[in-house]
Amino acid sequence: MTTVNSVLGPLEVADLGFTLTHEHLFTASAGIQRTYPELFGDFQVLTNEVVSALSEARDGGVRTIIEVSTLDLGRDIRFLADMAARTGVNIIAATGIWRDIPRSLWNRTPDEIAPLFVREIEQGIEGTGVRAGIIKVANDAEGVTREGEIILRAAARAAKQTGVRISTHSYAPGRVGEQQVAIFEDEGLDLNRVYIGHSNDSTDLEYLLGLVARGVWLGFDRHGTALPIGPDGEGRAQTLAALIKAGAGNRVMVSHDWSVLGVSRTSDPRASRGYNSDGWLYAKRRLFPRLLELGITQEQIDQLNVDNPRHFLGG
Ligand SMILES: [Zn+2]
Repeated sequence: MTTVNSVLGPLEVADLGFTLTHEHLFTASAGIQRTYPELFGDFQVLTNEVVSALSEARDGGVRTIIEVSTLDLGRDIRFLADMAARTGVNIIAATGIWRDIPRSLWNRTPDEIAPLFVREIEQGIEGTGVRAGIIKVANDAEGVTREGEIILRAAARAAKQTGVRISTHSYAPGRVGEQQVAIFEDEGLDLNRVYIGHSNDSTDLEYLLGLVARGVWLGFDRHGTALPIGPDGEGRAQTLAALIKAGAGNRVMVSHDWSVLGVSRTSDPRASRGYNSDGWLYAKRRLFPRLLELGITQEQIDQLNVDNPRHFLGG
C-alpha cells in the first residue's frame, strides 16, 4: 500500500478520488497573519468563506486538494488541519519555499536546507505533528536565480531521501520548466516524481511535449485565473485538448491555483469570486464541458484528476 501525508494523517493514494493538484485556501506573506492580522479583516469572515468554498467543492465531487502554500505564502498548518476536519475534504500540505525566498536562506547550502524540508515531511510542521505531503518550489520570469537554485537542489535532496514528490511554480512563457528539469536531472532525481506547475500559461506544444518526453508531469493548474499572463480560458481549453490528442493525457493534471484570499489582493475574502465565481469547481463546470465539445472523451477527462494524481503521488 502506498500512502501520502495529508494534514489529518496518511491517506491511501488509491483513495484520493478527484484531486485538485495546485490550490491555496488563502495566501499571505510570511509573518503577516500573526503580525498584522488587521490586513485580513475579520479572520472569522475569511474562515467562513473557506469553509463554504471547500464545502461547495466537496459537494461538487472534489475529494482532495493539494494546498501548495509554503512559509513565504503564509502557510497556516493548524488552519489547514482544522479546515480538513471541518469539511471532510482531504488536504495535502506543502513544505518547500515559493518565490519569496527568505534572505535567511540565501547563503545556506542545499544540504543545510534539505533537512528542514525532511523534518516537515517526517516529523511535522511547527511542532504540530502535521506532516507535509508535497515539496513546493518556485521560479518565475527571472528563471532559476542563484538562491532559487539552492532551494531546487535542497528540494531534490529532500525528495530523494523521503520519496515525497516535488510540485513547481514555473514561468511557462519563458520555458522555465526546462531550467527546473535541468537542476533536478543534475541532482539525479527521478523525473517521474516532478510536477512542473503552471505549464498552461504557455500554448507552445513543442515546449510542453518536450517536458513530457523528459519524464515529468505537467500541471495545467491555472484555470479561471485573473493573472495577466498566458492564454484566456478558451486558449487554455484548446491547448489541453491538443495535448491530450497528442497522447499526453496520462501526464497532465488540472487545477485552478485559486485562493479564497490571494497574497497580493485586498482583504475582502469575496474578491477572488470576482474573477472566478465557480471557485474550485471551475474545471468541472466550465473546462470539462468545453473539452467534451473539443472531442475529448469523459474517460480522458477522468484520467486528469483521478488516475494521474494517484500515479504521480504513488506510482
Ligand atoms: Zn499557486
